[in-house]
Amino acid sequence: MIVNMSEKATEAEVNHVIDRIREAGYQPHVTRGTERTIVAAVGSGRRHEIEALQVAPGVDNVVAIAQPFKLVSRQVKPDRSIVHVNGVAIGGPDVVVIAGPCSVESREQLFQTAHAIKRAGATMLRGGAYKPRTSPYDFQGLGLEALKILREAREETGLPVVTEVMSTEDIDIICEYADMLQVGARNMQNFALLRRLATVNKPVLLKRGPSATVKEWLLAAEYLLSGGNRQVVLCERGIKTFETETRNTIDLAAVALARDLSHLPVIADPSHGTGKQSLIAAVSRAAVAVGADGLIIEVHPCPERALSDGPQSLDFAGFEKVMRALVEPLRTISTRVATAASAVQPEAARKLT
Ligand code: PEP
Ligand code: MN
Repeated sequence: MIVNMSEKATEAEVNHVIDRIREAGYQPHVTRGTERTIVAAVGSGRRHEIEALQVAPGVDNVVAIAQPFKLVSRQVKPDRSIVHVNGVAIGGPDVVVIAGPCSVESREQLFQTAHAIKRAGATMLRGGAYKPRTSPYDFQGLGLEALKILREAREETGLPVVTEVMSTEDIDIICEYADMLQVGARNMQNFALLRRLATVNKPVLLKRGPSATVKEWLLAAEYLLSGGNRQVVLCERGIKTFETETRNTIDLAAVALARDLSHLPVIADPSHGTGKQSLIAAVSRAAVAVGADGLIIEVHPCPERALSDGPQSLDFAGFEKVMRALVEPLRTISTRVATAASAVQPEAARKLT
C-alpha cells in the first residue's frame, strides 16, 4: 500500500503515518520526491489499518501498489534514481560507458586497457576477477590477484571499478577492492547472494538472467532494496531465444520497459547481448536511443588472445570507433526520418536537418 501525502503535509503528519504503518505490522519506506512525500507500507500486515489512513491529517490518498515489486516501482518513487559510483553518476543526464576486459588476465593487459578506454571517453572500468564459466576447464579468473590489479588501475586512472561477485564468501574482499559489485546473469536469482548484498554499502549492478522475465528481474532488485541497499543499477545483457546467430538476444524493449516500471537506472550490455564485435556499435546506439542510462562494453588489447569472450571483445581502435559512433546516430536518424517526413511535414523536417 502507498500513502500519498499531500503537498502541504507537515513533518509531524508524515511521522504519524510512519508510526501507524509500523503499528499495522508493515515496514514504512519514505520517499521524499520533488513535489510530495510518499510513504509505502511494505510487507504483510493489517491492510484495513492502512486503508483507514485515508482520513489522517496530511494524507492525500491511499492506494494499492499494483506490481509485486514495490520499492523498485515508480509508483513508490516517481523520480528517477541516480546511483553514484565513486564520483560517476549513473541515471543522470549523461550516458555512462563502462568498458574493460571480460577477465583481468594480467597487470599489463588491464592497465593498457584502462588507459585506452579512458582516452576514448569511458568513465568506468570493468574486469572479471571471479568468472562464471560454463566449463570447469575454462579460465576461472585470477581472484584476489585480479582485485589488486583492478584497484591499482583505479588509483592510476581514477576510473571507478566494477567486478562480478559470484559467492557470498567473496563479498567482503571484493568490497575492499571494488567500487561496484556485479551480480552476473547466472546469479540473478541467487537469493542468498542478493540478501547479503542488500546489507553492503556498495552499489550493485544487477544483470538480467538469461531466462528471466522483466518481472523476475525487478523482483530480484526488490531483494536488494527491501534489504536496505537502494544503490542498484539494472543491466539488460540478452536473453535466450531460438536465435543462434547471436550469442543472446538483446531485449531493448526491456530496457525501455524497466525504465517505465522502475525508477532505477538501466544500462545495456551489447557485448554479451550479441556475442559479436561487429554488432556492438549498432546495438549501443540503439540502446541509447531507447533510453539506456549507460553501456557496459568488453574491450581487450588483443581479442584474439583473450582468455574469455574474445569474439565479442573490441580492440582499442574498435572501441574508439564505437565511442565516436555513439555521438553520430541522432544526425543519421533524423536525416532519414526527415526525408520521410518532408512529404507531410516540411517545416518539422527542416528543423530536424
Ligand atoms: C561478464 O560480464 O563478463 C559476464 C559473465 O556477464 P553475464 O553475467 O551477463 O554473462
Ligand atoms: Mn564476458
